[in-house]
Amino acid sequence: MAEHVRVLTDRCPQNHPCPALAVCPVGALTQQGMAAPTVDLDQCTGCGKCVRYCPMGAFEVAG
Ligand code: SF4
Repeated sequence: MAEHVRVLTDRCPQNHPCPALAVCPVGALTQQGMAAPTVDLDQCTGCGKCVRYCPMGAFEVAG
């Protein structure tokens, strides 16, 4: 079973357009305003790019 990613909202400052959206190769990340992004688990492949990219550690692989 593929691993997925979840967002740790308490680690996200939620004060900027999330740059990780452009890093996701399948467009699984979306953001409403400046809120923490959400992951579409049907699209997420668990590649981990957003996990490695976010300097706040706001993405976590959740099996
Ligand atoms: S793990 Fe990969 S596919 Fe899933 S949201 Fe992050 S960048 Fe996108």
